[in-house]
Amino acid sequence: MSQFANYIDGQWVEGASVSRNVNPSNLDDVIGEFAQADADQTQRAISAARKAFAQWSLSTPQQRFDLLDQVGSTILARKAELGRLLAREEGKTLPEAIGEVGRAAQIFKFFAGETLRIGGEIVPSVRPGMTVEVTREPLGVIGLITPWNFPIAIPAWKIAPALAFGNTVVIKPADLVPASTYELVKIIAEAGAPAGVINLVMGRGSVVGEALVSSPDVDAVSFTGSVSTGRAIGAKCFASGKKFQLEMGGKNPMVVLDDADLAVAIEACINGAFYSTGQRCTASSRLIVTEGIYDRFIDGMKARMQALKVGDALADGTHIGPVVDDKQLQQDERYIAIAREEGGTVFGGERIERETRGYFLAPALITETTSGMRINREEVFGPVASVIKVKDYDAALAAANDTEFGLSAGICTTSLKYASHFRRHVQAGMVMVNTATAGVDYHVPFGGRKGSSYGPREQGSYAREFYTTVKTAYVSPGTV
Ligand code: NAD
Repeated sequence: MSQFANYIDGQWVEGASVSRNVNPSNLDDVIGEFAQADADQTQRAISAARKAFAQWSLSTPQQRFDLLDQVGSTILARKAELGRLLAREEGKTLPEAIGEVGRAAQIFKFFAGETLRIGGEIVPSVRPGMTVEVTREPLGVIGLITPWNFPIAIPAWKIAPALAFGNTVVIKPADLVPASTYELVKIIAEAGAPAGVINLVMGRGSVVGEALVSSPDVDAVSFTGSVSTGRAIGAKCFASGKKFQLEMGGKNPMVVLDDADLAVAIEACINGAFYSTGQRCTASSRLIVTEGIYDRFIDGMKARMQALKVGDALADGTHIGPVVDDKQLQQDERYIAIAREEGGTVFGGERIERETRGYFLAPALITETTSGMRINREEVFGPVASVIKVKDYDAALAAANDTEFGLSAGICTTSLKYASHFRRHVQAGMVMVNTATAGVDYHVPFGGRKGSSYGPREQGSYAREFYTTVKTAYVSPGTV
């Protein structure tokens, strides 16, 4: 059995215990045993990052550029192999997994460039002769806590900006998918990151995550995961005076209007709701459809769903891989049952047997639902979409905004008037017109509003808001 250690202060070190990483497409396939840190080991990683910060915060942009650029190149060169590992541990299909790895590489390339673009401002003072200079500095030690659904892209979009701007890092990946982050950290170490600049502590949220959030030596925490965990982490960070950023759940609406191109709408909804097994925070989980197109849309969706192949993530032709684990599968089934009890009509959504033991679930479309039902209020995080039938555009917009979340939202229409109005008035951090709510570029801001997010946006040039702190310097006349 392959063993995978934690990475602390430039050394690979065993954990206090180990945890098995199992392939959700084939429960007989064990990827390896991964170290589980305890609180003491986590604190050692934090101390190493603190010590390394003294030098790394003074490194030149060229040093940081070279490191990040090389990491990006290595990931790209190993895209196929890393994609296979990712599909094996998380269960998204091989093409999706390879795409995610490619995205991680591009993120490192983008932030390599950002090291050179940091700059500052010289501002005329309101006082005679005085000069004002505004610059950005690194924050210090950043604790990164990531979820299981993007095992390499999310670690990449947190690690790359943290290092680009001169911070040091302690990362705790999700318990279910440590292998991709392990490989990423190994690539960063082998690219020449000095000891302590990047540290990996695998293990349980309640132990390792908790130690990161409560340590006074951690200056900031960037978290992606569920609302309940995020809010608890936010409260602890606030209490201990840490900067924090939370990216949490979604209940993303996709509006389909009477004037939509039916084929475009169905494609956007099939992709947004069911690809990556619906396990995306940006998944289209509420399909809000106006009366005139409703019957044609539902018939078209059912036909497309029946043609989707659910199976082994690594097999050719699979459209939908397995659910990530038994707990998530049970949650998906529980929500399907709740929707039925609330009066919804369920199409699909049954467990599927395949050659290997795995967590296979047919995609589910739930019709006859209303905004007040739990299926339309709570995040399921599986291949489950509900449909809300509405009279017209105004009712559709009201339904789209009738949620405590605000991550991504979409509209399918051929009307510029409705598309423009929706872009302006939907309460979401990201808006999509005639394309799926999930699937975003790597060089522009990512994030939401309302209950979905807290703090500055991630990715693109906006990432510097979180990973740097601003200093305003006043230089008096007469200073030489
Ligand atoms: P989760 O909240 O269960 O876990 C996220 C991370 O937090 C894991 O690493 C976990 O070990 C850690 N954790 C758990 N308890 C902790 C504690 N007490 N202290 C510190 N850390 C702790 O989420 P998950 O099930 O891994 O991921 C699914 C969720 O992530 C969904 O809600 C999804 O919407 C969300 N998500 C959001 C985005 C986004 O950008 N908005 C992206 C991907 C996933």
